[in-house]
Amino acid sequence: MGELLKVERLQIAFRGDQGETISVEDVSFAIQPGETMAIVGESGCGKSVTSLAIMGLLGASGSIKRGYISFLDTNLTAASEQQLRKMRGSQVSMIFQEPMTSLNPVMPIGRQIEEALRLHLKSSRKEARQSAIDMLRKVGIPRPETIAKAYPHMLSGGMRQRVMIAIALICQPKLLIADEPTTALDVTIQAQIIELMQTLQAENGTAILLVTHDLGVVAAMADHVAVMYAGQIVEAADVYTLFRSPRHPYTQGLMNSIPRLDAISGGRAPAIPGQVPSLHEMPTGCRFHPRCPYAEASCRELQPELMETGDRHRVRCWLTETSEADQIAVHRDTR
Ligand code: SF4
Ligand code: MG
Repeated sequence: MGELLKVERLQIAFRGDQGETISVEDVSFAIQPGETMAIVGESGCGKSVTSLAIMGLLGASGSIKRGYISFLDTNLTAASEQQLRKMRGSQVSMIFQEPMTSLNPVMPIGRQIEEALRLHLKSSRKEARQSAIDMLRKVGIPRPETIAKAYPHMLSGGMRQRVMIAIALICQPKLLIADEPTTALDVTIQAQIIELMQTLQAENGTAILLVTHDLGVVAAMADHVAVMYAGQIVEAADVYTLFRSPRHPYTQGLMNSIPRLDAISGGRAPAIPGQVPSLHEMPTGCRFHPRCPYAEASCRELQPELMETGDRHRVRCWLTETSEADQIAVHRDTR
């Protein structure tokens, strides 16, 4: 199967008061049609920036310095603003954490769905109106004919996120980028929105790029996962491999910080000590070395590449060159 999206050795820089900063460095991954791929990491790790770059929405201060993004064999890095605009909403659409910022506050929500449709598919007003109501019903909005006339502020957060999903999916895009789609919602609504995205994905074969810090959402939705740290992918694998046998010390730390049932009586799960480095002061060598319990002298000097260790399993750590990573994994399990 061919790749739907391919990101290759991407480097993204932002211009600011302190000069240019590199916020994404050497990021490569691919998404197959219909697949859900998650990018997971702490805030500021570059995961949202990567997804905005795919949409061509880095803004005036951001730019792709190196590498490329291709979607359906079109090089997006070389595409004109007009080509990108045509692609956004029809082939690739995006939903964000807070729908209020992307919904128009003074337009009834039915009209907003119609506009998306008319813009890209040139439907008639009547067809668009009917499709908007059908779509609202599909995303689980009760009494869609009435709700179509409502304004965004009249709806709850969960309902607004359903409307965003309706807008994002109305043109049947091949890729949906969802940046923290459930973070602002309470747990019950989160589960409903995840289920909704999965149902619609199964119906339409839409691929999803999920951007999140929430490993619970990753476990529920993703087929493949890339873990980002300080602007780089440090590990990527299928979801089972990543949760069962993470090999990068940072991924292992993330997994250890998930509260487990057996840990509840024992108090809080351990967090990773130390802090995410600032973009202005990246550590030399391996960017995780100041926080890594296994760091050796060489880790401070030499930056590891993302190394292939198995089928679509890649790890950016010197330990994977030896068998020590396996010993760490065992050590972690028996702790
Ligand atoms: Fe830790 Fe060294 Fe691996 Fe970096 S390369 S994660 S410092 S062991
Ligand atoms: Mg973000």
